[in-house]
This record gives sequence, C-alpha cells and structure tokens, in this order.
Amino acid sequence: MTDAGRHPKITLHTMSEVVDVQGYVGNFDVKILRRARYVNEKECTACGDCAKACPVVRPDEFNAGLSSRKAIYTPFPQAVPSAYVININECLGHNPSVCAKCLNACEKGCINFHMSDEEIKERVGSIVVATGLEPYDPTELDEYGYTRFENVPALSLNV
Ligand code: SF4
Ligand code: SF4
Repeated sequence: MTDAGRHPKITLHTMSEVVDVQGYVGNFDVKILRRARYVNEKECTACGDCAKACPVVRPDEFNAGLSSRKAIYTPFPQAVPSAYVININECLGHNPSVCAKCLNACEKGCINFHMSDEEIKERVGSIVVATGLEPYDPTELDEYGYTRFENVPALSLNV
C-alpha cells in the first residue's frame, strides 16, 4: 500500500466506497463516496498527541480487539496516508465544545470537525474487484476451544 501511495500514476481513495458504476469496458464512469476524515491528511504528522488526549477507548479492530485504540487513531501501522482519523460515531460530539481535547492537543491545527463526506467521479477503463476480508465469529468452532479457553482469540477470517 505504501508503494501504491507513492506511485505517480496511482490515485488512492482511502475511506471510500464505490456507490455507482455506469458504462462499459474501456469507458466506465464511477461514483465514489469519500468519508470525512476530520483530520487534514496533508498536514498530520501522525505524532499521536491527539490520541493521547482522547478519553474514548475502543477495541482495536486491526488487532481483533486484543488491544485498544482511541476515537482518534491510525487504523494500523503503515496506513496510507500516514494520518490520523476520527471515528465520528465514537467521538463525544461533532461540536468541539463537547470535548475538543484532540483539537487542543494538535499543535498543527489539523483537526477539522466541519469536514463532510464528498462524492468523487472517476472515468476508468477497467475495474478489478478485490473483496478483501472480514473477521469471522468462531463461536461455533468449539473444537478449537474458542468458547472454552480465554487465551484462544477470535482470529478466524472470512475471505
Ligand atoms: S491530528 Fe495533530 S496531534 Fe493528531 S497525529 Fe495528526 S498532527 Fe499529531
Ligand atoms: S473530540 Fe472526539 S476524537 Fe477528539 S478527543 Fe474528544 S472524543 Fe476524542
């Protein structure tokens, strides 16, 4: 992902999903919904000062809940771009007066609660579908002891 992020001929749309595709092979019009990051990704240095100040603690999905993260965080090491993001559903409020601890902690002034989702249009010739994966709840796989042993974590993956 880092190489893709640096490649001059690749545009990465992170925090985005394809919402509509029209056209035909060689000539597709694609609509992409880019979710708001609430952090200026060009200015953020990933110093982590905001996360230290954030009072909201949640399980870290990247580590299958074995560790924790804050409501403002980096999704995983080497994430591209190297910038923090706010999970707005976990944050104590859009309105900075509700909490604003991250705002006050960020000396670079990267945090912006006025960002909103935006729609992007791209014209492309080909589309490659890569579905990715989601964690699988292994509760039913009792033969591995998930329900019996505390130190057998939920790391099964649906591909
Ligand atoms: S948002 Fe600000 S405080 Fe948080 S990691 Fe980026 S530069 Fe550091
Ligand atoms: S405003 Fe939201 S993200 Fe920022 S410190 Fe408070 S709870 Fe955390």
